[in-house]
Amino acid sequence: MIDDKVNAIVRSLSEGRNKNFFPTIVKAMCRAIDAKYVFIAQVDDTNTAHTIAISANGELAENFSYSLEYTPCAEVSQNKTCIYNNTVQSAYPNDQLLIDMGIHGYIGIPLFDSMQENIGIVVALYEDVIEDVRMVESIFMLFSGLMGGELERRSYVDQLMLSSKVINGIGEGVLICDIKRQIISVNPSFEKITGYREDEVLGKKPNLLSSGKHCPEFYQALWKSIEENGWWSGEIWNRRKNGETYPEWLTIDTLQNEHGELTHYVGFFFDITRRKAAEEKIHFQANFDSLTHLANRDKFFDFCCQSIHQATRNKSGFAVFFIDLDIFKAINDGFGHKTGDQLLIEVAQRIKHTLRENDLAARHSGDEFTLLISEIHRQQDAIIVAEKLKNLLQEPIFVDEQQINITASFGIAIYPNDGKDADTLLNHADQAMYQAKAQGRNRYMFFTRELERNAKRRIEIKQNLQTALNQNQLSLAFQPIVNLRSKRIDKIEALVRWQRGNEFVPPLEFIQIAEDFALIDEVGNFVLHESCRQLRQLHESGYHDLIVCINRSIKEFPLRTDATPNWLDVIASYGLLPSSICFEITESILAQDNDAQLSYLHTLKSSGCKIAIDDFGTGYSSLSYIQRFPIDVLKVDQSFIKNDSNKNLVAAIIAMGKSLNLDIVVEGVEQKEQVQYLENLDCEFVQGYYFSRPLNEENLLKFLEKNKGKRDAVLT
Ligand code: C2E
Ligand code: MG
Ligand code: MG
Repeated sequence: MIDDKVNAIVRSLSEGRNKNFFPTIVKAMCRAIDAKYVFIAQVDDTNTAHTIAISANGELAENFSYSLEYTPCAEVSQNKTCIYNNTVQSAYPNDQLLIDMGIHGYIGIPLFDSMQENIGIVVALYEDVIEDVRMVESIFMLFSGLMGGELERRSYVDQLMLSSKVINGIGEGVLICDIKRQIISVNPSFEKITGYREDEVLGKKPNLLSSGKHCPEFYQALWKSIEENGWWSGEIWNRRKNGETYPEWLTIDTLQNEHGELTHYVGFFFDITRRKAAEEKIHFQANFDSLTHLANRDKFFDFCCQSIHQATRNKSGFAVFFIDLDIFKAINDGFGHKTGDQLLIEVAQRIKHTLRENDLAARHSGDEFTLLISEIHRQQDAIIVAEKLKNLLQEPIFVDEQQINITASFGIAIYPNDGKDADTLLNHADQAMYQAKAQGRNRYMFFTRELERNAKRRIEIKQNLQTALNQNQLSLAFQPIVNLRSKRIDKIEALVRWQRGNEFVPPLEFIQIAEDFALIDEVGNFVLHESCRQLRQLHESGYHDLIVCINRSIKEFPLRTDATPNWLDVIASYGLLPSSICFEITESILAQDNDAQLSYLHTLKSSGCKIAIDDFGTGYSSLSYIQRFPIDVLKVDQSFIKNDSNKNLVAAIIAMGKSLNLDIVVEGVEQKEQVQYLENLDCEFVQGYYFSRPLNEENLLKFLEKNKGKRDAVLT
């Protein structure tokens, strides 16, 4: 009898071919055991049962869910078999569902997976008394293994379906290899990243992707890690089907069966080209100059620190070069910034070519470059490099078919003698460079202790000068300029004075520093106001025709035509005529040939001011300048009258001046014989200690008073 029932179930199962296993078995069981309902259910975390298949009266019915609370099914899900042939309602009076459905007989047994974990329940419900409880239980027991196994397989398949869905959907490339390391499966992202279709790689080894960028040892280490740890992860370069190499982040994992035997290798990877490019960009920006592609200041500094460590260990030395292009600003202004940039790129290239493997060149800023030349022990070693570089940079540079000639000034400091740390070495090389500039550019200078002292003093003077300006510590001295023909004092030269406590700081020293540190305008402003103020007083005291000569540094002249100074306004504000002011400039301003500077010079001249060339003969002394520019006076440098062998030159200059209708002043006249010599040459003006040293306001007034009206007073 039971055999027929079992056979009926087995038959229907084989017809259903496992596809509709659960609906088929519940239907077959329901019929075989004459139950009202048979169902298979699984219980979730919230203690709710969900039927997977349910049969009512031998037909399939709609699945439903129910709470296990107060039900016999709760016990079944706790691995107890529950059997009530007629009394289930009294055993579970709170199970409303049983009552509503009119159920009296109940048989439920748990279903287990292969690990003997509960995986579901199978339940038969009867409206009447169950006649043969044992038979029903036996049939349930007989098929429970099959049902449990099928439930397990179903969840496994579900999981697999989920995993493969995930794997196919993810952006990471996935490849699965068998134990022979042959590819058995790849996902769509693999195809997208590598360019290979799945059918092109199945059965192949993953090394078909190898880029050739890694050595055999790299792969050996990779497989060793997999064997020892079961996985490997890292950056690797691979090659796409189109030949392009690319970096990827690869993780290789191993899969094992239940016996712990290796079954598969799974590789997950993603293309990190963009991340790498971003990384490289960040690295580049942090370490290199974007225009010249030389190292930047920070990288140079780090390299210098490393080199110090190395040189200390090896007891060796190296040189730091500080290079500044000589007239880069003029090139930038004259040719435009684009050309300036091209020039800097070319200079960087040339510098690079002179370097060896362990040297480094950097762009410090603007037109300043720094070099670290390794293995330098003596100045002689550095001279070879400096000469080579100097010559290389002097070669004409062509930018857009324009020939540009540049030169550079170099300062050199050598480790360890000239500094023990990077900051000091750079600073000392910079000081030496500054000196090379001061000595006429296009040359190299080594750092010396004297340079260091000078540099310190410069800084000290700069700081104190700022204070001096704020606290009105500057004053003026006036040196009379004597007209040899009329024997009168026609002009006075204003000379700035800085008495710093007991120390007299010579103007030649601090004017230069004021120029370098952009303080010259303030100094010049003071001198102009003070000269005008005192001249105004002198005019009011009766010296109506007196002219004041004011020295002007080239740096005080404007570099742009839209930035004109207000000197004429200042002069007017003291009620003075421009013709009572003479500006003394040096020849260098004419040599610069800067439009804005020259145009301002013309403005001064055309408004009535006089223009004198100071220290004539020491600079460019080109006759063509003097003819081209609006000059009134030549002041012959004092070195000429001092040196007997130059006396003829003085005579020549005086003659030239006369023929060009210029006034001539000979400076530095200290002796009577010199005065006589100049008188014989019919030189009009002289200035020098012979007549008077520069005088303060009070002494100047006394001096003028004493010589007032006396045509020959000054000579006696
Ligand atoms: P400078 O314009 O050629 O001024 C003449 C310098 O020669 C003055 O030196 C003066 O004291 C000195 N001197 C005059 N007669 C004799 C002499 O017979 N023998 C000798 N040995 N020296 C004589 P100081 O005052 O030291 O000025 C030096 C330079 O400083 C000036 O040369 C000028 O280039 C600059 N300087 C002075 N004051 C100013 C100023 O207010 N502004 C600017 N930009 N430069 C100034
Ligand atoms: Mg002067
Ligand atoms: Mg002079």
